[in-house]
Amino acid sequence: MIEREQLEMDVVFVGAGPANLAAALHLKNQIKEHNTLVERGLHHGRKVEDLEIGIIEKGSTVGAHILSGAVIDPIALRELMPDFLEQGCPVDSVVTEDAFWYLTEKRKIQSPITPPPLKNKGKYIASLSRICEWLAEKCEEAGVNIFPEFPGAEMLYDENERVIGVRTGDKGIDKDGKPKPNFEPGVDLLAKVTVLGEGSRGSLTKQLMQRLDLHEDKEPQVFSLGVKELWEVPAGNIEEGRVIHTLGFPSDAKTYGGGWIYGMKNNIVSIGYVTGLDYLDPMIDPHAEFQKFKTHPDVAKILAGGKMLKYGAKAINAGGYYTMPQLCADGVLLVGDSASFLNGQRIKGIHTAMKSGMLAAETIINAFDHNDFTSKTLRHYEEKVNSSWIYDELFAVRNFHASFQRGRWSALVNSSLQFLTGGLAWGFMPREHHIAGHERMEKLDKYNYNGDALRQRYPDLKFDKDLTFDKVTNVFHAGVSHNEDQPSHLHILDTEICATRCAEEYGNPCQRFCPAAVYEMEENSKTGRREIKVNFSNCVHCKTCDIADPYQIINWVTPEGGGGPNYKGM
Ligand code: SF4
Repeated sequence: MIEREQLEMDVVFVGAGPANLAAALHLKNQIKEHNTLVERGLHHGRKVEDLEIGIIEKGSTVGAHILSGAVIDPIALRELMPDFLEQGCPVDSVVTEDAFWYLTEKRKIQSPITPPPLKNKGKYIASLSRICEWLAEKCEEAGVNIFPEFPGAEMLYDENERVIGVRTGDKGIDKDGKPKPNFEPGVDLLAKVTVLGEGSRGSLTKQLMQRLDLHEDKEPQVFSLGVKELWEVPAGNIEEGRVIHTLGFPSDAKTYGGGWIYGMKNNIVSIGYVTGLDYLDPMIDPHAEFQKFKTHPDVAKILAGGKMLKYGAKAINAGGYYTMPQLCADGVLLVGDSASFLNGQRIKGIHTAMKSGMLAAETIINAFDHNDFTSKTLRHYEEKVNSSWIYDELFAVRNFHASFQRGRWSALVNSSLQFLTGGLAWGFMPREHHIAGHERMEKLDKYNYNGDALRQRYPDLKFDKDLTFDKVTNVFHAGVSHNEDQPSHLHILDTEICATRCAEEYGNPCQRFCPAAVYEMEENSKTGRREIKVNFSNCVHCKTCDIADPYQIINWVTPEGGGGPNYKGM
């Protein structure tokens, strides 16, 4: 039995992303405001003592695991801190020009008008990782404790299934699961309220939703995978502030997908491609889709003569309003991507994530005011969400992603009509509305692949290490590091399925959907059988394997704190 230290706090936030950082800072500000109102007799509640607030983060520093495009709508940032620019918020550039391209294999058709949801003029291009670093500084100045290298490993519950905190991961366990000389057991952080803001497919959020059935009566979540590179290009290739979004090549018409190209300061370009993880063809490889995207003549022209600096990949919650779980339970709240706050039509979730955090903070103050941390009080969070601009924004696009599950052309018709009618569903929608991606993947026998199916899917794709890169080279540019002498954090519940059914039925799609070459089928020299090999140290923590595996037998858990990618500046 391991003896663990217990630390009592008032509020623990899991994950130092935009939702939780905004929440913690807003909470500190709201305590002051609340107490001033009570002192002046303008509020009938009681004064709230200054709260002990902690944020735990699995990355080596705040920002190390934060990845986004990103063009930020500053609406929430402005509500949090009206003078955010004066206070040094490190936005990169103001968007000066929008463009929307439909790409065929060799040509681009520039839309004469940018679809309104993709209009970004006046908004900010930024590195979300930098913004989070800055927000963390603001939180620390306000008295919030931030603990990097502390992954949340387990939720803690009392005998009535109320969440009472979180256990952080052990350090110093060797690959066979035995303690090393530097062993340090994880700490039990006990809190009156725990806030999960772990991003897309958070591992604790997944545990919690399963245990407390928070997804009951909701539509299944659907995800996409964003794969991104940061480039430095010769001056003149793209203007600072130019934002381009694309549809079409290289995705086929049945697959949800699109690209982005953002011109930043100092000739830096943020370029990436999003592939829906509800694709049908098991040979699709989102990393290859992105590499192919860059070979389009109009895209390649922007990167010509440039150099790739950094790489990253991250899953995105794409389902929106109908796929949001229940947002609270006794002692716990869900914020940001953990709770599906992204607006898929605008490809934006930072502003909604921050706002969800701020509404969670206001709910927490109310809970301390009433000294009640059960769902009776915490459910006011859902009411606050539903009476805020988050609801207006997300409800209006509630049918957006589902219409893509019937293919691109149905989606274009549907989403135009939805835009005109406040989001009403029109024809050609799938009967079940959202269908989980892993249930949509089709078996190989539906396709006419023979021999090297991947080569048939991507016949012309070559990794020239100039414009296009293989996964291993890309992983090097993600700055990934994990201590190799630790148990793998990728738990395959039944490897026999990989060697038999999955090989035959889907051709082991983990080898393709993982953007970091973690999974390989390798011949066992003794048995001659091809078996799964897991190169866990390559993992960029995108969570795709946990999401897209058709048998749902991959369970992503947190590795030792500090391991993973380094997206600083991405
Ligand atoms: Fe993403 Fe899973 Fe691959 Fe890690 S192992 S990079 S989480 S798909």
